[in-house]
Amino acid sequence: MLIKFWGVHGSIPRPGPATLKFGGNTPCVEVRCGDTLIILDAGTGIRELGEDLLRRSSVASGTRLPITGHIFISHLHWDHMQGFAFFEPAFVKGNRFDVYGVGPISGHLRATLDRQLAEPNFPLTLDDLVASFTFHDLQPVQSLQIGGVTVRVEELNHPGGSFGFRFDFGGRSLVYASDTEQVACVDDRMVELARRGDVLIFDSMYAPDQYHGLWDGIPRVSWGHSTWECAVNVALAAGVRRLVLFHHGNEDAIVEDIERRAREKFPQTTAAYEGLEIEL
Ligand SMILES: [Zn+2]
Ligand SMILES: [Zn+2]
Repeated sequence: MLIKFWGVHGSIPRPGPATLKFGGNTPCVEVRCGDTLIILDAGTGIRELGEDLLRRSSVASGTRLPITGHIFISHLHWDHMQGFAFFEPAFVKGNRFDVYGVGPISGHLRATLDRQLAEPNFPLTLDDLVASFTFHDLQPVQSLQIGGVTVRVEELNHPGGSFGFRFDFGGRSLVYASDTEQVACVDDRMVELARRGDVLIFDSMYAPDQYHGLWDGIPRVSWGHSTWECAVNVALAAGVRRLVLFHHGNEDAIVEDIERRAREKFPQTTAAYEGLEIEL
């Protein structure tokens, strides 16, 4: 299993000098399980992933091999789908994608995506994407099989709902939990999803004092995101091997400090950055 991060910032893209180290694109993670391509979320990071996929699929003769992949959308907040219309492989005939998401929480996946692409939001419809798409509405607490990959779906604690995913392949496991708030710091369902996972990618948007409003008088409680401390507590409770802090909500210097503090409690911690690759 190969994991590569293309977008790691949360809620809104934040390009510029303050995010040069970790990157300012919103969530997108590429996962390779043998020949199976899985894409986690379609934030602005998916644009560069798409360009890279097209480069990789080109052969010397100038023809392209078709790209097939499975796109899991944790939920349809802007930062998790705003790159979708800029995913260039979607505009190449012959490519095929299965898209998984929302289900009964927010309505039908295809209709919702179509509405977000259409006027007056944007001048497209899903029919303008000439690649072949199949949409799958997910249910919470569901398992599905994609080739040799077993996928488990769990509902997370987030306004409007959000899904967490666990991927098991070849004896290795990856857990993706972006956009979730651990109100009491450790949610049993979350711990169960992450149980003994090799890698846990977890929402670590805030520092604890920031979460409680001590930095600027703005408490972020009930906004649907966690602190690095909650991420560490989940990692410890679930017995994961490695923790990746994700969905950053701060500039580089603060993310560096968050990573340092998290490592003191859970040494196998990395703050995700664009370009980070993890091979399992
Ligand atoms: Zn988000
Ligand atoms: Zn969200």
